[in-house]
Amino acid sequence: MTTLDEKLEPILSEVLRRNAGETEFHQAVREVLESLGRVIAKHPDYAEAALIERVCEPERQIIFRVPWVDDKGQVQINRGFRVQFNSALGPYKGGIRFHPSVNLGIVKFLGFEQIFKNALTGLPIGGGKGGSDFNPRGRSDGEIMRFCQSFMTELQRHVGEYTDVPAGDIGVGGREIGYMFGQYKRLTNRYEAGVLTGKGLAYGGSRARKEATGYGAVFFVDRMLATRGRGVEKMRTVVSGSGNVAIYAIEKIHALGGKVVACSDSGGYVLDEAGIDLDLLKDIKEVRRGRVAEYAERRAGRVRYVDSGSIWDVPCQIAMPSATQNELTGRDAKRLVEAGVIAVGEGANMPSTPEAIRVFQDAGVLFAPGKAANAGGVATSALEMQQNASRDSWSFEQTEERLAEIMRSIHDTCAATAEEYGTPADYVLGANIAGFVRVAEAMRA
Ligand code: GLU
Repeated sequence: MTTLDEKLEPILSEVLRRNAGETEFHQAVREVLESLGRVIAKHPDYAEAALIERVCEPERQIIFRVPWVDDKGQVQINRGFRVQFNSALGPYKGGIRFHPSVNLGIVKFLGFEQIFKNALTGLPIGGGKGGSDFNPRGRSDGEIMRFCQSFMTELQRHVGEYTDVPAGDIGVGGREIGYMFGQYKRLTNRYEAGVLTGKGLAYGGSRARKEATGYGAVFFVDRMLATRGRGVEKMRTVVSGSGNVAIYAIEKIHALGGKVVACSDSGGYVLDEAGIDLDLLKDIKEVRRGRVAEYAERRAGRVRYVDSGSIWDVPCQIAMPSATQNELTGRDAKRLVEAGVIAVGEGANMPSTPEAIRVFQDAGVLFAPGKAANAGGVATSALEMQQNASRDSWSFEQTEERLAEIMRSIHDTCAATAEEYGTPADYVLGANIAGFVRVAEAMRA
């Protein structure tokens, strides 16, 4: 891990001043700027074009009111956001998050990360992110539908297949995308399949999109381990979270012969030494929209459910934080290092705190930052856009093979860039520099 170059200090100060109180955004910007000292040394011309200042300032930030009617007939008000961060490489692209913690700073940190992640995929997509402080937990289907329709009633004027292409994130899956797509179609009278990704297969979605983030993160970790003559096979793994990313990371680890012994949600974690039973987990989370605690109830006596403490207390060789930002602290990282962790792959966006990253890197643990490791989701979204543009639909195998190829290429680009800039195997440095340079070249052109 590097420190901030003194030439970049004024840029960071300006970001902090302009975006007061947006701590997650500050954290994300600082981490990228810490990698860019060596870039400005190599490209002094970047300063003249203010490329770093430019990439830190969103092109457009939209905040809007979302009124909707709950099942009791009461009007509820939420706040909606879309941050269109950078369109140098293509239409803004990035998910929508529905969670009570969402605010402008969270959406900006996610949108900022998305710029570099999307650049790393090598595909023509800019960076953006959206969301709402709406809490979907405990809401009926009808309430979710009315909320999504109201959200899209405002958002439709800002998005489009050539403008901005949202998808899912925490709290937004296939059901929500379906409600939003239907509303977009009614309001615009256009069957514009490429306006949203993560669609259902029945109306223009891509095979393997649902699996892509989790599968892709495992492909990345496997290739990273291969640089040390190892792989995920037979590795004891912990995957935090139990949403879309976690479920399909677990599925791919098991397919490759590894064993995932724990997963979690905001209520606690379950430890199953026999290996997480994925059919059971999918039934609970995908079919019944339930909680991880039910896994323990249905496996009574054979697994342990812990509702206090941290999932990172569980010793493992591979850790894949796939829940949410800043879920893995410096203390957690120290415990994992003591327990012998070999590799960390971030399935979520910015799940490790800066202290945690430092601990892993100082200990020589292979560390894959989210903007590289979890790029398979948005990459497959770009493949969905390709299929929509050509009115085509690819097989699962074909799509998964493209995903695997893209993840290989992201891994190799990060590794080669880290080496070129003097710190081999520093995937944070490699991802930040390779992502930034691609965007910078396009902005300058
Ligand atoms: N929300 C996902 C991410 O963090 C996917 C975005 C997309 O597919 O556009 O990258």
